[in-house]
Amino acid sequence: MEQQELRSLQKKAVAIRREIVTMIHQAGTGHIGGDLSVTDILVDLYYKQMNVSPEQQKNPERDRFILSKGHSVEALYAVLADKGYFPKEELETYAQYGSKFIGHPNNKIPGIEVNSGSLGHGLSVGVGMALAARMDGRGYRTYVVMGDGECAEGSVWEAAMAGGHYKLDNLTAFVDRNRLQISGTTEEVMTQDSAEERWAAFGWNVLSIPGNDLAAIDDAVDLAKRTKGKPTVIIANTTKGCGVSFIENQVAWHHKVPTDEQYQKALEELAAKEASL
Ligand SMILES: [Mg+2]
Repeated sequence: MEQQELRSLQKKAVAIRREIVTMIHQAGTGHIGGDLSVTDILVDLYYKQMNVSPEQQKNPERDRFILSKGHSVEALYAVLADKGYFPKEELETYAQYGSKFIGHPNNKIPGIEVNSGSLGHGLSVGVGMALAARMDGRGYRTYVVMGDGECAEGSVWEAAMAGGHYKLDNLTAFVDRNRLQISGTTEEVMTQDSAEERWAAFGWNVLSIPGNDLAAIDDAVDLAKRTKGKPTVIIANTTKGCGVSFIENQVAWHHKVPTDEQYQKALEELAAKEASL
């Protein structure tokens, strides 16, 4: 990727992070740690890699995206608003009574394909979409983003088995490998050690990358597109809370709301990051 394009994506990631912390501070709820962890993956997919736009929501050739770790919906809302799927002002209703902008993705929101966030379901739906593309002779690609805590769900591995069995090379999955989940480290709760070997054993092409590095994410998605005869899983080694120092790597920030003072500090850190780009 050209340096200029990389810088523009990095600036976009800062803007999305600013929107996330603002939305959560204002609403008084949200999964801030996982949102900040997954931001760079969403930015690369939505601003560089995926063939999606508000104008082609009905186009059968559009790429498909499923945020299986649906708790990170604030990050997805911020991206979809910025892409013009709906007016940005609507985000001010997030988590308010009667708003369609609830705490998990739902398909009443323009741009969201699938209701998700009941963990462990997204990859199965993605396998179905990828199989459908093959059966219908269509060229779209399917992307699924899971959490690492989510991989403790048995249904993830049924889907992994099916994806490998059907050699779905039009399917790319991400594991947001931030090593934390709601109740502790993944290694304490249900180890994901040797995640790479596990996925490979199910017949997947496995790429392990620094998951908050936009250039690395983009290279991995390109490589997945070129890989034939296997689905690809990208183990994105991320930092939960990435971009805001006091949120990074803190299990308590899985679902916690910044105080006014913390919110100001977060904005300052993000502004400093933006100025450095
Ligand atoms: Mg996690």
